[in-house]
Amino acid sequence: MRIVIVGAGIGGITAALALKRLGFDQVTLIEQAPAIRAVGAGIQLSANCVRLLRRLGLGDALTRVSVRPSAHIFRDWKTGEVLLHTALGPKAEAAFGDSYFHAHRADLLAALLEKLDASSVRLGCRLVGFSEEADRVRLKVEPGGTIKADVLIGADGIHSTVRQALFGADRPRFAGNVAWRALVPAERVAHLGLDKVAEVWMGPNRSLVRYYVSAGRLLNWIGITRAKEGEIESWSAKGIVADALDLWGDWHPIVRGMIEATPSDGLFRMGLYDRDPLHAWTGGRVAILGDAAHPMLPFHAQGAAQSIEDAWVLAGSLAENPADPPAALAAFAARRIERANWVQAYSREMEEFVHQADPARIEYRNARLRERLKKYEGEFPPGQVKLYSFDADSVFPAPPQAVA
Ligand SMILES: Cc1cc2nc3c(=O)[nH]c(=O)nc-3n(C[C@H](O)[C@H](O)[C@H](O)COP(=O)(O)OP(=O)(O)OC[C@H]3O[C@@H](n4cnc5c(N)ncnc54)[C@H](O)[C@@H]3O)c2cc1C
Repeated sequence: MRIVIVGAGIGGITAALALKRLGFDQVTLIEQAPAIRAVGAGIQLSANCVRLLRRLGLGDALTRVSVRPSAHIFRDWKTGEVLLHTALGPKAEAAFGDSYFHAHRADLLAALLEKLDASSVRLGCRLVGFSEEADRVRLKVEPGGTIKADVLIGADGIHSTVRQALFGADRPRFAGNVAWRALVPAERVAHLGLDKVAEVWMGPNRSLVRYYVSAGRLLNWIGITRAKEGEIESWSAKGIVADALDLWGDWHPIVRGMIEATPSDGLFRMGLYDRDPLHAWTGGRVAILGDAAHPMLPFHAQGAAQSIEDAWVLAGSLAENPADPPAALAAFAARRIERANWVQAYSREMEEFVHQADPARIEYRNARLRERLKKYEGEFPPGQVKLYSFDADSVFPAPPQAVA
């Protein structure tokens, strides 16, 4: 079966690897960029996707280049009070069946690419349209040409061409948030004594998340602030440290310290966008996955994790029924849509929860978190259990076998 995947992001590359693992040997990945380059940013990888990456052979690489945080902590912006603390170390690994990693995106991408046969990737190749015929899909790509495939997978991100062709044009929704992000050499923040945890600082209209990546050599922080105007959705637009200090300067000294330690050329800012959920992801021999299907806000750090789950289920569904690609793709979507749409909505809810601005509501939220801290001491909140304990193989009646 000839399968073409559009987009060599985390979702597309994982889909190619998952398909090859199940014996599909005619998989081509086309990518519009002339080279596969990761943005300079961290990424949190929870057990639900780490177990799949491990099955693809990335376990050793991730262990070598990532950080395994010991806990997830929510703090008050001003006092630093710990409002919620849940384990992410051995106890969480035992509960969820795998590790939680903090990685540099470049390290994750390098680990994925190491497993991929370079000859299956066509760089500098942009999908501009496609037409479906009875027994195949004909892709139109630039520079000029046609590619024929039995199956077309759109892993082409939030501005997906495939999604638009299947379901019509709609614009991503500006979430009313701007993210500021930076990677800071660990020695520049050594005086702050930061331990290896995932930490979320919550204040009125703003938050800041921080964790170490690159085996502890870099601190990654992402500050998110509410904003009325839309901003460009870009991974490379520069930010100014003094502007970030205007926004977070009166926060706890640890937060201020991280921002002050940021190299002047090391700060970036981007508007955050998502979309409303879709209730179909396929049309005949064509399907979408990852951000193309369910772009979501980063408040549960799940966008890439969900694209990895999608990739896994896609490969399994095609292996289960290779004789009937449209039915296999429909089965893939039916197995994924409910969970992905839930995570999308849950991520929006979390924005509201974290960025609460009204003092009475902040106090109410914090009181609830303190209660939860007592209640879940040593246990895990239900939302975390539903996210992290999920094994994408559980959607199959029997583990999919490799195609002959
Ligand atoms: C601030 C921030 C923090 C985040 N943190 C986390 C986190 O901690 N954990 C997590 O799991 N997720 C996180 N995410 C979400 C995560 O980054 C995305 O969900 C994930 O990268 C999406 O991967 P993808 O492969 O679906 O799409 P993309 O990464 O967008 O890849 C799409 C690819 O398709 C290519 N392409 C597009 N159109 C075409 C075309 N017509 N022809 C050929 N190629 C094309 C693009 O060039 C691109 O390479 C975060 C997101 C943000 C904004």
